Amino acid sequence: MLKRLTCAMLLLLFACSGNPAQSKLSVKWEELTAADFATGIRQAKGTCLLPFGILEKHGPHLPLGTDLLNVRYASLHAAEQEYALVFPEYYFGQIFEAKHEPGTIAYSREIQLQLLQETADEMARNGCKRIVIVNGHGGNEHLLPYFAQSQLDKPHDYVVYVLDRERSRAGGPEKKSTGTDYHAGENETSNTMVSRPDLVHPERAASESGADQKRVNLPENLYTAIWWYARFPNHYSGDGSVATRELGEWNMKGYLDSIVEAIRAAKADEESLKLQNEFYEKSKHPLDTKQ
Ligand SMILES: [Zn+2]
Repeated sequence: MLKRLTCAMLLLLFACSGNPAQSKLSVKWEELTAADFATGIRQAKGTCLLPFGILEKHGPHLPLGTDLLNVRYASLHAAEQEYALVFPEYYFGQIFEAKHEPGTIAYSREIQLQLLQETADEMARNGCKRIVIVNGHGGNEHLLPYFAQSQLDKPHDYVVYVLDRERSRAGGPEKKSTGTDYHAGENETSNTMVSRPDLVHPERAASESGADQKRVNLPENLYTAIWWYARFPNHYSGDGSVATRELGEWNMKGYLDSIVEAIRAAKADEESLKLQNEFYEKSKHPLDTKQ
């Protein structure tokens, strides 16, 4: 009797909670039905992630889409922890410095900015009022803050946040390489061993040099476009041959945590949009602004 009763209670519980597989919304924009999308936007408090990758050479041993694969891996897992909608694959960024290597897709600067603006506008029109661009590519480090800053040019009913990429996290497993580790080196190779181990070819990693070739000697605060090519002409910086999955897991955990933190901060941020609106209004008549 007791057994039957317990079963009945369990059945009732199951019926009330529904099928968990159906009730849990996907975080992927492209996987939702139109109606579920609207529910998702409400559940996310209008918070959407735009993980930003690129297509460029990554040493002799990693796939062209490494940045895209890694930023999406971290973003999707973060959004599952703290619900946010994740925009589909986006890789239309700044990568002129890799145009000499096979497989690079380098859109013009006009297209980069216009496409990003229209993407953000379209996301916002669909309810994404808090857009967190998760940057997965070093070459975007100037583009994205500039894009965000230029949102003050004219009124928008949404806020753009930029989360810079995280190469590695202090602590964790000891690193084996000691030189500069910017691109396809120990860190990035380790990270890709977590996101897509099937695409990593560590045995090829030593077939090219990822050493800093230091071919231009300028003061650190004097910028010039050819700096990257001057230092790392193979599009390889560091040593991917010593990568380990253990280091990748440590790095990815840190990356994921920082994205979760950003989602929570954007959801809780009630001030930015309010102040933006105040700013847009005042900027229409600057002479009335109190001195
Ligand atoms: Zn990369």
